[in-house]
Amino acid sequence: MIVGLTGGIGSGKTMVGKIFKDIGVPVYNSDKEAKRLMKSSKKIRKAVRELLGDDAYAGKELNRAFIANRVFQDKSLLHKLNTIVHPAVREDFTSWAKKQESAYVIQETAIIFENSMQSFYDRIILVTAPEEIRLKRILARDDGSKSKVLDRMQNQRKDSENIPLSDFVIDNVELDQTYLKVLEVNKDLLEYSGR
Ligand code: ATP
Repeated sequence: MIVGLTGGIGSGKTMVGKIFKDIGVPVYNSDKEAKRLMKSSKKIRKAVRELLGDDAYAGKELNRAFIANRVFQDKSLLHKLNTIVHPAVREDFTSWAKKQESAYVIQETAIIFENSMQSFYDRIILVTAPEEIRLKRILARDDGSKSKVLDRMQNQRKDSENIPLSDFVIDNVELDQTYLKVLEVNKDLLEYSGR
């Protein structure tokens, strides 16, 4: 059984993913694995170089600042980059998922609804938190400016649009409440899986 874990920037997808991991559920972090694949897969490196130029890599390392800058300025480049990276991540996730022996696995990804990928998942968990809290978290975590974070938030779908499309909503404000909710969701998912 495949469970999607999603939510807006700074909602706490990775944090919630960590709690599921702690209670023994295999969690695939799409963002992290995409970066790994962009670095390690020869095929992807070649395609990214062809699309963005040799500066996309500094030696073996991904030149993230350069890539972010290029795709931030040109939406069609972002779309083309996604058509290189997303299918590779999907393939990698699928082969990873087949190797797991648990009742269900979780794929953490920011883009389930944006890419209309709902049908890929048996169940979808949405992580939410008020925008001002999300903003504070991101500013505390990353170097970026307030306006850039607000810009990204404005470009994402609203929680109110995503809630009706999700099977579970985890409102992640107080961590102990989040933890209890994860236990509850896990219980439901185990029941649903029939294991
Ligand atoms: P992104 O969209 O940028 O990938 P995300 O949704 O995965 O973000 P996290 O990285 O899990 O969000 O959380 C953002 C920051 O907020 C992290 O520094 C994390 O430690 C912190 N954080 C998450 N949840 C809570 C919480 N309930 N209480 C306090 N801090 C939290």
